[in-house]
Amino acid sequence: MLAEQLQEVEKRIQDACRHAGRNRSEVTLIAVSKTKPISMLQEAYREGIRVFGENKVQELTDKWEVMPKDIQWHMIGHLQRNKVKYIVDKAEMIHSVDSLRLAETIEKEAEKKHCIVKILIEVNMAEEESKFGLSARETLPLIERISRFPHLQICGLMTIAPFVENAKENRIHFAGLRKLSVDIAAKNIDNVNMDILSMGMTNDYEVAIEEGATMVRVGTGIFGERQYF
Ligand SMILES: *Cc1c(COP(=O)(O)O)cnc(C)c1O
Repeated sequence: MLAEQLQEVEKRIQDACRHAGRNRSEVTLIAVSKTKPISMLQEAYREGIRVFGENKVQELTDKWEVMPKDIQWHMIGHLQRNKVKYIVDKAEMIHSVDSLRLAETIEKEAEKKHCIVKILIEVNMAEEESKFGLSARETLPLIERISRFPHLQICGLMTIAPFVENAKENRIHFAGLRKLSVDIAAKNIDNVNMDILSMGMTNDYEVAIEEGATMVRVGTGIFGERQYF
């Protein structure tokens, strides 16, 4: 069943790319495996998935321990500063940097572990109260400061769009994130790269791809509904 769902997601990604005149290779599918058991991750792995997304530090490190080492783990959830030390050398990328204090903590832990950490800046495009992330206005000033951190590499922007009935309603937020990234790229800040736009989830990844997403984070569409206890 997972194999079929994965095929369906892959087909829809390809269709969205074709529709947008983009190459499939421009879009990375992150399989969001949060709350799902190892057996399901193994099944996805057997189907060829090598990029997984998790939103909790403990869960990411637990799964990192037991899964094959050629997997890239993306930390996509809100990150508490006291947990940074557990993942700096395990996560391929941290998608959820939204404050100077968090960036400072990642910098310090990365220095200790002698690694460079790739990060995205999380922007709350819809300015939803309930969500983490910076406003669009706050994004450039924070990036300018973080760009001076030698152990952090800013690779782009991430957003979590609102839950909407009609995915097209989120087009404005995806287009807005893309415009913001183009504006920031034009500043040519040292050590800042705007190649990655992490946007689009199960309900809206096709629209996100049409608007320039280079990473889509799909959980339910691959693994089925999550159950929270
Ligand atoms: C859970 C989660 C996803 C995946 O959501 P689905 O709707 O299941 O595809 C994507 N991004 C983030 C940040 C998440 O927390």
